[in-house]
Amino acid sequence: MKKAGFISIVVLLAVFAGSCNAESQNAAASGESSVEQKPTISEQGIEMDTIKTNKGDLKITAIGHGTLMFEFAGKVIHIDPVTREADYTKLPKADLILITHEHGDHLDTKAIDIIKKDNTQIILTKTCAAQVPGGIVMKNGDVNSIDGLEIEAVPAYNLDPATRFHPKGQGNGYVITFGDKKVYVAGDTENIPEMKNLKDIYIAFLPMNLPYTMSPEMAAEAAKVVKPKILYPYHFGQTDTSIIVGLLKDSGIEVRIRKLD
Ligand SMILES: [Zn+2]
Repeated sequence: MKKAGFISIVVLLAVFAGSCNAESQNAAASGESSVEQKPTISEQGIEMDTIKTNKGDLKITAIGHGTLMFEFAGKVIHIDPVTREADYTKLPKADLILITHEHGDHLDTKAIDIIKKDNTQIILTKTCAAQVPGGIVMKNGDVNSIDGLEIEAVPAYNLDPATRFHPKGQGNGYVITFGDKKVYVAGDTENIPEMKNLKDIYIAFLPMNLPYTMSPEMAAEAAKVVKPKILYPYHFGQTDTSIIVGLLKDSGIEVRIRKLD
């Protein structure tokens, strides 16, 4: 009798512990934990597009403003990661980080510290290098192959030298080759003549906010030169995105508006 009583208490305790466990798991799943839950990526309103390439899917996450994330062939590539645009503790760690230039809405060492792993490679400009140790400096025209991805640094600047925001030769745009698809991330630039040299761009990200980069009209002109299949206006602030959609209506370029203000 004593033994049976002891066993039934043990069984009862085990059942009780099990149910507590299940309850706490349910609470965690429904977000009812007493520990503060950070919003997930979808709760942060971040949108993701999938593009087919001959080497698998390219996932594009439109994080905000000039900030993007690409996922391809098991690698995570962060572009201009900035903590004001997202909770980076909820985003996958970077295999590769690309920084276009040193302005605070593009270079944020706090975001880099959160997403960096021991073997993360960072590509940046000479001006950024002073703030980010261990990066690979690329200047306009340089081509690099990292983790099987071809990356070309291209010019990004303001046409009028009196505009001091983005001097020629200082900032980078990047052309990244994902399988058979080339993606052009323009950085902060105007519709510069070097855009004529870009060939076979499938996706382009073009900035659109005066006085720092382009008006919708300038961005539309740039898009007609670059001729991407898909254009994402980005870094657009308060600019009315419907203007560029209208300007490119019959151009054959699909204009995708995401939360990249
Ligand atoms: Zn800038």
